[in-house]
Amino acid sequence: MILINCPYCGEREQSEFTNGGEAHVVRPKDPDSLSDKEWGQYVFFRSNPKGIFYERWVHTHGCKKWFNAVRDTSTDTILKIYKLSDRRPEISEFQTTLKSPSGEPIVGSGNFAVKK
Ligand SMILES: [Zn+2]
Repeated sequence: MILINCPYCGEREQSEFTNGGEAHVVRPKDPDSLSDKEWGQYVFFRSNPKGIFYERWVHTHGCKKWFNAVRDTSTDTILKIYKLSDRRPEISEFQTTLKSPSGEPIVGSGNFAVKK
């Protein structure tokens, strides 16, 4: 059982939440000026890193509020949760906590999401 700490309600079971995909995806300011390919890139394509990932969550069976989380996709560990109005945390805040699923160092583990 994974617990998620809703910034409004506190710690609850993951089953109360819904993942909303990648966070901080900015909608184009002038969608009419985009080509179909560019619009398709915005609508359908998201990053899928192994490692640090910024994502949106909603407390579906609770307060129904959206928030952001930083999760290490290689270990399924939530590293930080913050409100939409809060500053996006820098990736450097989490680099010391990164480990591959087998516990090996990040360098050489095939983790391309983390730049040196
Ligand atoms: Zn909540």
